[in-house]
Amino acid sequence: MKRSVRGCYQSEGYVFARNAAEIGKQHGLDWVARLASNENPDPPSEIALKKGYEALCNANRYPDERQVSLNDALIAVHGNFPFVTGVGMDGVIETTIRTLVEPGDLVAISTPTFSFYRLSAIAQGAGVVEVPRGPGFTVEPARFIEACEEAKLAFLCTPNNPTGNGTSPEVIRGILNEIECVLFLDNAYVEFSDLDYLPLLRDYDNLIIGRTFSKAYSLAGLRVGYAFVPEWFRPYYLRAATPHTLNAVSAAAAVGALSDTQHVETARARVIRWRKELSGRLNFPVMQSDANFIMVDVAPFTSDEAVDRLARMGVLARSCRSFRGLEDHYVRVSIGADWENTMCIDAFGRLNP
Ligand SMILES: *Cc1c(COP(=O)(O)O)cnc(C)c1O
Repeated sequence: MKRSVRGCYQSEGYVFARNAAEIGKQHGLDWVARLASNENPDPPSEIALKKGYEALCNANRYPDERQVSLNDALIAVHGNFPFVTGVGMDGVIETTIRTLVEPGDLVAISTPTFSFYRLSAIAQGAGVVEVPRGPGFTVEPARFIEACEEAKLAFLCTPNNPTGNGTSPEVIRGILNEIECVLFLDNAYVEFSDLDYLPLLRDYDNLIIGRTFSKAYSLAGLRVGYAFVPEWFRPYYLRAATPHTLNAVSAAAAVGALSDTQHVETARARVIRWRKELSGRLNFPVMQSDANFIMVDVAPFTSDEAVDRLARMGVLARSCRSFRGLEDHYVRVSIGADWENTMCIDAFGRLNP
């Protein structure tokens, strides 16, 4: 029998950050600044660790399939909205697509942006309509609305990865007023901005807002994502999801992380301070950012050239070459710990064309 893999997996998949330990070894460096994945450089909150450990002690049992504790904690923090959870927001994105999209349906995506919307849509047999952003990487609502006409589901990331800029809630409202399809608003970085999209949830029943514990909450390794969803959508999502999607340790740690507002506030304050500082001190144009990273225009270098040179100086940044719809001269740099940001400024200072 001939063994064959589905066509959608024959081309390149998700692009992961390069390994810090390998880079260090390769270039003989003791210290490598890990600025390629937009993680929080602080370890998880003590409360998250304690809750996670308690759950680990009961790991002989299956998790609560309704995730009551996490659901209640989300309601306590954000208000009484219907929530769903997933293995990272990536898991939420995948399950949302599985819930709504039939093979042959169209999915609209505002680009350049996070790659997983496209990969996941294609894996579900969907067609993808990419809607390019305008000057300064701002969303052009008329163009996006037009693409949504034929689509079943649309993705818009704000603050956007990799460009960093946010789209105002007023612009999103304008879009929601005109479209019929479901809009998935990716808010992975919203904690680092002053943008608030939650009031929109009261007015639209086709809005899903995705969130994650991987960035502001320091739990990237535990894979916890969630979303605010319309009431009608929730039961279908639960049927489409893999049983026991979220493990008990991750869910418990997330509850702990949510309760530690000081931990998140520390990260937010550091990001805001360094975002300003880095934007002023790199000898290259830096895009305005509402997130915990900045996108730097490294022309005349290509993305990969700049990233290779920075790596030799111990700074791990993300080449933006793989982001569709973006010219090949951008690098994305996370805001890290103080010493990492200092190394970053120093490395860019030595990056001479
Ligand atoms: C990091 C990220 C996610 C997914 O994060 P998870 O770790 O899967 O929760 C989703 N969207 C964007 C734009 C991201 O940058």
